[in-house]
Amino acid sequence: MRIGILAVQGAFAEHEDVLKKLGAETILLRQKDDIKNIDALVLPGGESTVQGKLIRELDMYNPLKELINSGIPVLATCAGLILLSERIANDPNTYLGTLPVTVKRNAYGRQLGSFNAIGKVGELPEFKMSFIRAPIIEDVSDDVKILAKVDEQIVGVKYKNQIGLSFHPEIGIDTRIHELFLKQL
Ligand code: GLN
Repeated sequence: MRIGILAVQGAFAEHEDVLKKLGAETILLRQKDDIKNIDALVLPGGESTVQGKLIRELDMYNPLKELINSGIPVLATCAGLILLSERIANDPNTYLGTLPVTVKRNAYGRQLGSFNAIGKVGELPEFKMSFIRAPIIEDVSDDVKILAKVDEQIVGVKYKNQIGLSFHPEIGIDTRIHELFLKQL
């Protein structure tokens, strides 16, 4: 079982560290040819506009979208969530567009650029959620399951094979979300 981690920009190394600690085999996806024989996909945080541009320029857009539509488990965090979203309230672009939600980028403004919150994520109690210039999920289609909310705002969802989180589960010592992700394999 190999987990592909999109590694064109952003916080891919942190996901790699966590997954390796949990005993998973990982491959960093830097170019089109890397996207072969992977059983799961991680889309890390970073800057969605840069990542979105790079996956097109590097010709990774179609293979990534096909893989996601084929049903392999996908874990997308922060900018990764933005890449997956069908609609972006404050960005004229959309990227992979496989997750039927509307996100708002940089939704917490400058002052609240970074903060932590503790709450339930799906069945996991007391998960420390780290937000860094995070998006919120403004709207979801009926068949999207809400995994987490902070101050009434949706910050985690699951839709079929795709998990999208506004926060960064790869930072810190709590590996429960990555463990659950690996259990889907
Ligand atoms: N603000 C970034 C964006 O809009 C996301 C931030 C992050 O991934 N930590 O793409």
